[in-house]
Amino acid sequence: MTTVEGIVLKERSVGEQDKFIDILTKESGVLEISVKGARKINGRTGSSTQLLAYSRFCIDKRGNYMYLNSAEPIHIFYGLRESLTKISLASYFAEVMRFCIKPEAQNGDIMRLMLNCLHYLETGERDERLLKSVFELRLMSEIGYMPDVVACRSCGAYEPEELFFCIADGGFFCADCFENDSSADYMKIKLPVLSAVRHIVLADFGRLFNFRVSEGSQQRLSALAEAYMLTHLERSFGTLDFYKSIV
Ligand SMILES: [Zn+2]
Repeated sequence: MTTVEGIVLKERSVGEQDKFIDILTKESGVLEISVKGARKINGRTGSSTQLLAYSRFCIDKRGNYMYLNSAEPIHIFYGLRESLTKISLASYFAEVMRFCIKPEAQNGDIMRLMLNCLHYLETGERDERLLKSVFELRLMSEIGYMPDVVACRSCGAYEPEELFFCIADGGFFCADCFENDSSADYMKIKLPVLSAVRHIVLADFGRLFNFRVSEGSQQRLSALAEAYMLTHLERSFGTLDFYKSIV
């Protein structure tokens, strides 16, 4: 029997009584676990296996399958269920994680990113749009798609007032060097947005959520982060479409 800590990313019913849950773990990526008699389980084990619950799971491994023996809640994030936009954004985070993180992938910072985003979303201590941008850009960086935001690709300018960011390749040209090339998808942004992107992809984890952006910059940052993630993952997400339909 093994014990792991994880966040439930998805639950789906099997037959009358059972369900499968997919959990995000620090050590083993995303695991699929069979929960026998899920409909009859109440109390602590029941709440531990709900969507977005952060719990400690005792698992029996038999062949290629894992079965839940018992579970204890660590934090259930009940506060997310008090707001439709919060639970919708959290569901989007879960769907993206489930798509991006494979079994056996080991990256403690990904688990930390998910827990921190859910925490700030639940407490309301950070703007939802800021959390969404941090989630999208930091996750992409952690899984190997970090944008190259060090300097202008042509002249090396570090802090241009205005620049053109290429969604497809993650690099940028300052306004002086930029030559319009209609074959690529560029986004015109100003320095504060570049600074925010740099912070999100490069900051130490302990400082990741400690920054602010103006209203205007947030709009550009939101558009950039979402386009960057969707372009590189080459797909859309139903939970994102729903979230955008209600905000
Ligand atoms: Zn330049």
